[in-house]
Amino acid sequence: MSEPRSFKQDLTCVFGHPVAENPTQAMIEAAYQHHNLDWRYLTIEVLPQDLGDAVRGLRAMGFRGGNLTIPHKVEVIQHLDRTTEAAGLMGAVNCIVRDGDDLVGENTDGKGFVQSLLEVTDPTGKNIVMFGAGGAARAIGVEVALAGASQITIVNRSAERGEGLVSLLNDKTDATANFIQWDGDYDIPDGTDVVINATSIGLFPDVDARIPLNTATLKPEMIVSDVIPNPPETRLVREANEIGCTVLDGLGMLVNQGVIGFKLWTGVDPDPSVMRAALEEVFG
Ligand code: NDP
Repeated sequence: MSEPRSFKQDLTCVFGHPVAENPTQAMIEAAYQHHNLDWRYLTIEVLPQDLGDAVRGLRAMGFRGGNLTIPHKVEVIQHLDRTTEAAGLMGAVNCIVRDGDDLVGENTDGKGFVQSLLEVTDPTGKNIVMFGAGGAARAIGVEVALAGASQITIVNRSAERGEGLVSLLNDKTDATANFIQWDGDYDIPDGTDVVINATSIGLFPDVDARIPLNTATLKPEMIVSDVIPNPPETRLVREANEIGCTVLDGLGMLVNQGVIGFKLWTGVDPDPSVMRAALEEVFG
């Protein structure tokens, strides 16, 4: 006879778009199974006007945490008890963690990126060029600055968002940031250590979209990172590999932000290779 077992399952969730197969759900549930955790991770569609009720429901039903995607990352803050310092600086939360009775807002996007970067270099003193100034770029900018990057150049199409991120970095971190209005192909300056695409250019289905960048100015000694997880091999990833750069794809960041959330919810350090394999299966 088999051992009696508890049927209580701890719950985590993502509030966001309804997609047939949510990659984060596949990744987190693969890790729950691998680590024999009787937990579930659910994908729940929540309309913007229902977000407060959804968070109260999450609290009432004893969820241990959750993730948020667009359009909830900023609005959710007013419904939480507090945020971590970094999430407060970014003004965006992608991960909720229950701490006793409190729901705490954390942002694991930038931390996931820094974790990937640390696998190839120490960000301390590095000179970074980043395309984009949206949610992902804000999270990455703050975390690379907190991790010790010295110079961050933000190249963005809209001046308002770009200058907003530059002000945030200059006012709230020790890094020096400057804004470049994106107009035509951008030349990566000599002396750049890390180049990051934090825009949505190249995201499925626009896989052939080209980032306005003079690829001849990429050097083999540079680290080139693309945040786009789908497809993992973007045009930028392919071109940077051909030049001989050290390349980080968007799956690494997605796995690492999942690893950080998983540890915060369960206390267990998950196996990243299991999580990456689950994502690779979803993204084909
Ligand atoms: P946002 O909508 O907040 O920001 C999009 C950014 O891309 C803006 O800077 C926008 O510029 C720029 N952009 C979009 N299209 C163009 C274009 N045609 N030309 C120039 N600039 C453009 O999105 P997010 O920051 O939330 O997400 C960005 C990407 O990051 C997405 O592809 C997402 O999948 C990915 N991501 C990956 C994660 C991971 O773990 N790997 C985690 C989170 C996000 P402008 O300000 O001028 O509009």
